[in-house]
Parts: sequence; C-alpha cells; structure tokens
Amino acid sequence: MKVTIFGTGYVGLVTGACLAEMGNHVVCVDIDESKVERLKRGEIPIFEPGLEPIVRRNHANGQLEFTTEASAAVAHAQIIFIAVGTPPDEDGSADLKYVLGVAQSIGRHLDRYTVIVNKSTVPVGTADRVHKAVASELSARGAQVEFDVVSNPEFLKEGDAVEDCLRPDRLVIGSSSERATGMLRKLYAPFNRNHDRTVVMDVRSAELTKYAANAMLATKISFMNEIANIAELVGADIELVRQGIGSDPRIGYHFIYPGAGYGGSCFPKDVQALERTARGVGYPARLLGAVEAVNHDQKTKLFDFISHYFNGDVRGRTIALWGLAFKPNTDDMREASSRRLMEALWEAGATVRAYDPQARHETHRVYGDRNDLVLCDSAYQALDGADALAIITEWKAFRSPDFARIRAALKEPVIFDGRNLYEPAVVEEAGLAYYGIGRGRSV
Ligand code: NAD
Repeated sequence: MKVTIFGTGYVGLVTGACLAEMGNHVVCVDIDESKVERLKRGEIPIFEPGLEPIVRRNHANGQLEFTTEASAAVAHAQIIFIAVGTPPDEDGSADLKYVLGVAQSIGRHLDRYTVIVNKSTVPVGTADRVHKAVASELSARGAQVEFDVVSNPEFLKEGDAVEDCLRPDRLVIGSSSERATGMLRKLYAPFNRNHDRTVVMDVRSAELTKYAANAMLATKISFMNEIANIAELVGADIELVRQGIGSDPRIGYHFIYPGAGYGGSCFPKDVQALERTARGVGYPARLLGAVEAVNHDQKTKLFDFISHYFNGDVRGRTIALWGLAFKPNTDDMREASSRRLMEALWEAGATVRAYDPQARHETHRVYGDRNDLVLCDSAYQALDGADALAIITEWKAFRSPDFARIRAALKEPVIFDGRNLYEPAVVEEAGLAYYGIGRGRSV
C-alpha cells in the first residue's frame, strides 16, 4: 500500500521502516531538513537496535523515501500517519501544535479519499480536532474530499522498537469508519499472521488506552519505589520483596524493578497529561498525582545518598557516572534520571566523569562543553581520578564489572547503585561500600 508518515522520530522512522519492510511504499516527511538529509545519505539519527539495516535496505530499493515536501507526500498516500511529538506545554497538558500543524498541511493538499491515522500520543478528543483542522483547510480552498481520522496509538518501547513494531502485542484501532478500519486491517495483515492482534474500538477509547497503558506502567514503578523507600527504613531488602511478590501470577515479575526513577519521553509527560485531562473534566486523579510525586523525589535519591556519604559537601569531588540514557539500548536522554543527578552534583560543586555506550553525543548536544563534565570512552576510564561511582542506567555492560579494578581506581571505595545491579555482599567482599535502592540500609 502507499503510506506517508509525518515525523521521522523514534515512532515515525521505525514505523516507516517496518511498513516498508513488509512491501509497502512508504514516504517519510519531516520538517527537520538536516534530519531528512542525513536519512537520505543512509545515516540514522537515533540509536535503535536493528533499525539501520532495515532503513538502508528499503531506502536503497526505493520502498522507503524521505522528504520535507508535504504536498508530494500527501499526494502519494492512501494512508497517512501522524507520528510527530506531543511534548508537555507549561501546565503539563499535551501540546498539540505539531499534530494540528500536520493536520493543516494534510488539509491543504488532500485531493482524494485518504485515511489519516494518528499515532502520536494525544488526549481524548484529538481525533475530532484533527478532523476539524483538515476539514477547515479543505473548505478554505473549496475542496470536497472524503477522509477518515483514526486513532492507532503506538506501544513500541525504545530499545526494542523494531522488534515491537514487527511483532506487536496488540494493534489498537480506534475508528467509527468501516472503510478506514478495513484499510488498516489490510495494512497490518502481515503483522497478524500468527494470530489476530487487532483490537478495534471507538476513537476515544483508543486515545485513552495509550495513556492508561503508560500510566499503569509508571504506577508499577512508583509503587515499587515507594515500597523500596519503606524497605530502606525498616531494614528489609526490596530485591527479596520484589521476588516474593512477583511469584504471585496476579502481580508477576515484569516491570517491578525499583530504581532511581523513570524518565524518557513518554511516562513523565503522559502521566502528567492524563492527570491534567482528568482535572479538566472535574476529576481529581489522586493516584496519578502520587505516581508523579514519588517519581520526582526518587530522581534525587542517588544525589541524596552521595551528598550524605560525603557529609553534605561534594564540592571539589569527582563522581564517576555509568549510564546517561534514560534506559539501556537507547541514546535518548529525555527526562533521564542522569540529568537530575548530574545537575544536582554540578549545583553542589562536583565534577562528573560519565560513560554511556550510546548517549555520549546526545549528552554533548544537551549540555555542550563544560568544565564539570568529562565524557569518557569507557566505563573504567570514567573511574580515573573519581571519588565514587554512581550507576544510573542498567546497561548489560555494567552488570558484571571487575570490582577489584573499581576498588583500585576510586579514591573512596563506594558504589551508589541506582538500578540495584549488584548483590551488596559481593560488592562488599571486594572492599567497596555499597548503596542501592531499598536494600535495607540508609546511608
Ligand atoms: P520525536 O521527537 O523523536 O520525533 C518527532 C518528529 O516529528 C521530529 O523529527 C520532528 O522534527 C517531526 N515533526 C514535527 N512537526 C512536524 C511536521 N509538521 N511535519 C513533519 N514532521 C514534523 O518523537 P517520538 O519519540 O517519535 O514520539 C512521537 C509521538 O509518539 C509522541 O506523541 C510520543 O508520545 C508517541 N510515542 C513515543 C514512543 C517512544 O518510545 N518514543 C512510544 C510510543 C508513542
């Protein structure tokens, strides 16, 4: 089928590449000219495992094209996806200026029946606003063109995005049009060969499904962090508690890891946006507010540990930091816990020597050159001249380190583990003090 995708970020580029891989002819549009130029040269602007070969292959064989020209891209498509960002505005609600901007440009160029599919995470009611924006552009130029607006929220996870896209758990289609639903079923048929993964519902329910999924996942994390904080104070080990509760199939082992807070481009903004939506309709979503508040405080936990360990004075100290990305297998730094930690350390007069397998360039893009940040080429290089080691991203490469080497390199033999990667006894045997999240001891 002929597909156009607006937005070549994590969602748009992965979706475009996977749809092209299935034999569709995909045109990806972005307003960021330098991004489009890089993509045309075969450079992938983001790190996402498995993405590069799919993009290169399909670009080379003409199945996947990149452009900044909205008019040609709209003319190309039977189905147009909107996959642009929906960042929070000042009060935490989703800012729809990019989504509605795309809707207007579709309306300016649409000349035959097309299905407009919204993949961006947007508040309930946005499909109606997209419909209105397209219709008003059509009527401004006196055009009479039929179209449908469908909600098809995206559930891919950064770091596993290609795999999630090729083998989705579910494909939610929110639509009141049989014609549009039929076209999407056809487009997604290759992803449904094993069994039908489509869940068809009304548009508003589809829009809310995405927020409910992210809010549920964020709630699991904040719940575990709350229990971890209690564990710390009562002398219990959250890692044993985690396994104890995970064994109940009603709870399960998935996604109940305590840590230094969740980040990324989705959970923080989506929990906030859902809370604001609820407030807007007169419902005080207390649980969502608490999820957000617990996470906010959790992000300062490692700094509090470090500061306390150094008697409230880290001025002139150097902290080695392992991990910068908001989670492993990505270079995405949006709302990463590392940022809050580094900013607190800098504010208190410390220097950070950081290593991340993928997020070095992104960190440099965000913070530029500064005297109190040294970006290192390896985990062990980050330890050179450091007083202590803090871990904030659970990259596999950090899971079995050489503790003797860490011990020898650090001025103070101490690890602050924001992801509970290690067994305290093992680290202590190597002669290092160990502070994890909820491991039964406060500093
Ligand atoms: P992103 O910031 O990585 O990419 C968005 C892209 O849209 C940018 O390249 C930007 O230049 C482009 N853009 C903006 N306005 C445009 C326009 N008028 N025409 C064409 N391109 C335009 O965003 P993302 O992380 O891919 O997220 C996109 C949406 O999907 C968001 O609503 C997000 O909440 C949602 N989502 C993201 C993820 C994820 O893991 N990143 C997962 C599921 C859903």
